[in-house]
Amino acid sequence: MTIQEMVDAINSPKNCSFSFFCKLEELTDQNNIKEAIKCIKDHFNCDEKMATQVFNQYKNQIYAECKRIENENPLSPEQIAYNNAVAKEMLNKPKCPTCSSTNVQKISSFSKAGSVAVFGIFSQKVRHQFKCNNCGYEW
Ligand SMILES: [Zn+2]
Repeated sequence: MTIQEMVDAINSPKNCSFSFFCKLEELTDQNNIKEAIKCIKDHFNCDEKMATQVFNQYKNQIYAECKRIENENPLSPEQIAYNNAVAKEMLNKPKCPTCSSTNVQKISSFSKAGSVAVFGIFSQKVRHQFKCNNCGYEW
């Protein structure tokens, strides 16, 4: 696999393992570069040098995308504060709004609209969605 192919695989969560995508997303959000690279290395079974290149390219793509989103949809400080609060709440304790079960699964999908600034690079780009494993509700 080439570096670009790996980056593409990461950017298409459908084509790669969900848990891997979630883990990498969280590590990137926390700016835990060392662990993120290790995660890529383990997943693709490649060497550290390659994993580092994949991670850098992947991160650059996200930054470029974030800049683009920012230019298209400039947010007011109030919107940013609100989005940050929502994103934090969702990341910290996902809970089913219909049955209150905490047995929920995170589904992340790339969203062109609606961005969250300041709170982690991934939160700016990825729309967090959840599915309840108890009642099946998605939100
Ligand atoms: Zn539920």
